[in-house]
Amino acid sequence: MRDVINKYLIPTKFKLTAKEKSIMIIIIILLIVGIIEGWKKNIDIIEVNAQYEEYQKELQEAIIREQEEKERKRREKLPELTQEGIENVNHIYSSDTKRAFLTFDDGPSSNTQPILDILKEKGIKATFFVLGSNVEKAPETVKRIYNEGHFIANHGYSHVYTSIYQSPQTVLDEYNRCNQLVRDAIGEQEYNSHLFRFPGGFVGGQYAEIKNQAKDLLLQNNIVHVDWNALNGDSETKEPTVDFELQRIADTTCDKQSVVILMHDAEAKKVTVEALPNIIDYLKGQGYEFKNFYELIK
Ligand SMILES: [Zn+2]
Repeated sequence: MRDVINKYLIPTKFKLTAKEKSIMIIIIILLIVGIIEGWKKNIDIIEVNAQYEEYQKELQEAIIREQEEKERKRREKLPELTQEGIENVNHIYSSDTKRAFLTFDDGPSSNTQPILDILKEKGIKATFFVLGSNVEKAPETVKRIYNEGHFIANHGYSHVYTSIYQSPQTVLDEYNRCNQLVRDAIGEQEYNSHLFRFPGGFVGGQYAEIKNQAKDLLLQNNIVHVDWNALNGDSETKEPTVDFELQRIADTTCDKQSVVILMHDAEAKKVTVEALPNIIDYLKGQGYEFKNFYELIK
């Protein structure tokens, strides 16, 4: 058989010696091993590629989730006025449980930062009826109010009665001007508090008729207004003391379930900053729970 193979299949001049055959076998084996290794490497590359793609996909999903979460938090801070919200504001002075809305008008000023420090320390969210002309002067303070979860409401631009109460339209103009300044300060062009407080209050006075008409125009523009039913008296006298403000709080909240408390964070109201920790402690002691307008308007 061997002779036959040698004779017919391998020409005489290509006859291999035993040594040559061994070398050939080794070469063949090396080739096979090489092919197998190459194939394995290919498989490895495919696997690495697949893992990389998987990782990329997970990363992409994590980025999307993070963006969605950020967007959800952004939206959460944009007030939306629903019919229920309007009803809530209309019935603000009645409630089943004792609740207190701390409100600060006419700011921001240099007093706003220490007020924010106190509110942070006490874990309380309040409402700031900012004045456009002061927002212009301290936009970074307005941003801090917003970032710390307080409700920024609207008190118009000028606080000058003769200019704001020229007509219902001038009231709306002042609202819009203040609103735009707030938007710029907080870097949120969709912001609209939908909540206005008439300078000097809504009730009575020589501009009562204009205010009454303005109320309707505001409502047509999806804006409600709110006054107060309690106060610390910081604008009742030129030089109030801490004791005076505490007494006014006690007198005006007494026997009320739901209180909207008027205070001021204008430049001159230093005593309000001083009295605030005591006012908060007093209200807590009376069983009031602190709320801000996010809970009514959302
Ligand atoms: Zn005011």
